Amino acid sequence: MPKIEEYTAAAGRSAIEELKAIAGRLEGKTILNVNSTAVGGGVAEILSRMLPMMTELGIRPRWELVKGGEDFYAVTKKFHNALHGSRQELTPADFQLYRDTMKANMDALDLDSDIALIHDPQPAGLIDKKPAAAKWLWRCHIDLSNRQDDVWDFLKGYVSRYDAAVISAPAFSQRLPIKQFQVPPSIDPLADKNRELPEEEIKAIMERLQIPLDKPLITQVSRFDRLKDPLGVIQAFRMIQPYVTARLLLVGGSADDDPEGAQVLAEAREAAKGDPDILVLCLPPTSNVEINAIQRASAIILQKSLKEGFGLTVSEALWKGKPVIAGAVGGIPLQVTHKYSGILTRTIDGTAYWMKRLLHEPAYAKRLGENGREHVRENFLLTRHLRDYLLLAIYLQSGGQDFIRL
Ligand code: UDP
Repeated sequence: MPKIEEYTAAAGRSAIEELKAIAGRLEGKTILNVNSTAVGGGVAEILSRMLPMMTELGIRPRWELVKGGEDFYAVTKKFHNALHGSRQELTPADFQLYRDTMKANMDALDLDSDIALIHDPQPAGLIDKKPAAAKWLWRCHIDLSNRQDDVWDFLKGYVSRYDAAVISAPAFSQRLPIKQFQVPPSIDPLADKNRELPEEEIKAIMERLQIPLDKPLITQVSRFDRLKDPLGVIQAFRMIQPYVTARLLLVGGSADDDPEGAQVLAEAREAAKGDPDILVLCLPPTSNVEINAIQRASAIILQKSLKEGFGLTVSEALWKGKPVIAGAVGGIPLQVTHKYSGILTRTIDGTAYWMKRLLHEPAYAKRLGENGREHVRENFLLTRHLRDYLLLAIYLQSGGQDFIRL
C-alpha cells in the first residue's frame, strides 16, 4: 500500500495535512466496516483501499462480512433492485429469511468497535446487536429516490435505529428520524486500478487479453447487471456501426453477492454473437491492473446505467482523462456536468448519437476528459472520502456537539 505522503501529488499538500490533523482526534479508536462481499463491486473496492490508510493514520479499522446462503443473496439482490426502483415481488418468507440470516450473523461476527459503518441493506439488520456505547452509521450506496415501499418500510425499521445515515447524493435522502449526511464515494489514484501505467505495459496487457487496438475502443466496465444495461449498450453501438470505425468492449466480472451475473453475461454474449467488433470479456474480480489498462486504452468510456448508486467507473475513467458518456442516474450527475466534464444520456438513441459525435470530434472529447479529471481531483479522491468519514466519526463521538464542516 502507498503511504499517505504519496497522495500529495494527486490530492494536494493541504488535503493531506488536513486528513492527518483530523485523524489525530481519533487515534486508537476502532472503526468497524460491515458489508457482504470482499471482492467485486464498488464497496469492496473502496474498503480494500481505505482501511490500510486508516491504519497508517493511527486508527484501528476492522472489516467483517455478513454471510448467507444463495437464498439470502437472492433476497438481498431483490432488496437492492427494489430500492433502486425496479419492481420486485417479496414474500413474507423472504423477509423471514433475512431476519434469520441476520440472527445467525449476530452470533458469528465480532461487532465490537467504537464506530461502525454498516454498508447497504445486506447487514443493516445487525443493528439489533449494536453495543450500547458504540456509534453506528448506516452507509447507503443505493439511489433510494424511487424505492419500492414494502422493502423500504421493512429496512426503515432497522435504519431508524442507527445514529445516522450516510448517502451519496442529496436526492437519495429519505424521511427518517435520524440525521442524514452526504458523503460521495471515491477512487484511489494510487491503486493498481488507477495508477499511471506506461504505454508499453498497457499494450502488453491488451495483447495478453487479446483486445486488438487497430480501431478506437469504446468500453463499458461493469458487473453484468441489467441495471448497467449491457444490452442497451450493444444496441446503441449497432446503430452507429455503419458510420464509424470502432470496436465495442463490454468488460465485467461477477460479485459474490450478485446471483444474476451469469445470466446477464450469457445474454450479452448472445447479443454480441457473430460480430468481431463487439467483444464481451469476463475477468476475475482481482483484475485491477487489467481494468486500468483497458480504460486507458479506450477512446471513450460508457456507463449507460439505468439505475446507479454512484458509479465509481465514471470517476475511474475521468481520472484517466477519458471522455465519458453515462446515464443521467444516481450519483453520475455529481461526477459529470453535461458537455463540460462528460456527456449525460437518457436513451439508447442519445448514447449512439454521442458515441458517434465524440469519435468524430476528438479534440472536444479530449477537453471533456481533462475537465473531468480536475473535477475528480477536487471531489472524488480517497483522501476526501476518508476525511468526511472521520469528521462524521468525531461528530458522533461527541454526541453531535462538535462543530464540523463537511
Ligand atoms: N469492476 C472491476 N471488474 C469488473 C467490473 C467492475 O474491477 O469486471 C470494478 C470497477 O472498476 C469499479 C467497481 O468494480 O471499481 C464498480 O463500482 P461501481 O460503483 O461502478 O458499480 P457497482 O458494481 O458498485 O454497482
